[in-house]
Amino acid sequence: MRTIHVTASRDYDVLVGPGLLDVCGARIAAVTGAGAAALVSDTHVAPLYAQKVRAGLEGAGFRVTEHVIPAGEGSKNLAVWGELLEHLASERLGRDAVVVALGGGVVGDLAGFAAAVYQRGVRFVQMPTSLLAAVDASVGGKTAVDLPSGKNLAGSFHQPSLVLCDTDALATLPPLQIRSGMAEVIKTAVLFSEELFSRLERGEVDEEETIAECVGFKRDVVAADEFDTGERAKLNLGHTVGHAVEKCSGYALTHGEAVSVGLATVARAAAVRGICAPETAWRVAALLEKTGLPVSTDIPAAALLEAALSDKKRRGDTLSLIVPEAIGRCRIERIPAAELMGWMRDGGLQ
Ligand code: NAD
Repeated sequence: MRTIHVTASRDYDVLVGPGLLDVCGARIAAVTGAGAAALVSDTHVAPLYAQKVRAGLEGAGFRVTEHVIPAGEGSKNLAVWGELLEHLASERLGRDAVVVALGGGVVGDLAGFAAAVYQRGVRFVQMPTSLLAAVDASVGGKTAVDLPSGKNLAGSFHQPSLVLCDTDALATLPPLQIRSGMAEVIKTAVLFSEELFSRLERGEVDEEETIAECVGFKRDVVAADEFDTGERAKLNLGHTVGHAVEKCSGYALTHGEAVSVGLATVARAAAVRGICAPETAWRVAALLEKTGLPVSTDIPAAALLEAALSDKKRRGDTLSLIVPEAIGRCRIERIPAAELMGWMRDGGLQ
């Protein structure tokens, strides 16, 4: 098992390894004390793992309530969030309660945002069960729901008290969701580590080590810029176009697939503009394709532009685009919003 310690407005450990579901009750009680726990999961994950987590929590002395949301991004909205808050209230949970998010990034973002505001904030624990949530979404304290106007437009910074990533739980992930998580792993490598990228190219992936490595890079960014006023923006590599692709596809593409399109696009554009070598863009696209991820889209660039401009990362008439200079090194470009179309065209989108 690996432990990554995160330093932020609330310090916490991220534990990565097998068998953590079995010991979750004791681990959580050690951090929060045993009281009431609201277990939040989705319709895919709950039948697989909720019973085990519930038993673990009860064994450690928790009074457990359970709330299951429909699986998928479509649940990350204000209505489902309101139902969860109402569940917490109707179960008469107090400020000493802990919300336990068991699932992928959707459950984590939604449950985290409920924990952030319920009675002005209660503690929460992330138990990521998707690769994407393990390497990215469960760490760093960003919580949110989507609005009809765009992704993650309502949310809060609320750090978890503990992250328990049981690598055994990843065994039931559908292949599409593994690929989706790999998009964020590849993004992390493009941002921070040529060495990790080369290992991925060679197909040398030790799951526990890779997750811990990605969490370590994210930890460093969060420690430096928890509230996303500077360097943390780099984690959005591939996301400006990616979020637009995700939204315009009607969420038919997974988050990771959409990020993959965004990552390949911005890398190609960077090569066309002489910011990175053509080989860099080629390697990024090749690794994404080898992983089974899309590197382009038929969605018209004009539609993507409109969706991207409603994204919250836009500040007035400029937006931040994260651009690779080389594998393992990226920079933040502030560009006039009107120039995004040119970047997308240079990136091969029509
Ligand atoms: P998800 O939560 O929808 O999970 C993907 C699918 O896999 C779902 O159908 C889910 O039920 C299923 N699943 C999860 N674990 C499983 C398991 N062990 N076995 C079988 N099925 C399982 O999506 P995701 O890809 O995990 O996360 C995407 C979300 O995360 C997006 O909403 C994105 O905006 C968010 N995100 C947040 C952050 C952050 O910092 N907060 C970072 C990146 C992404």
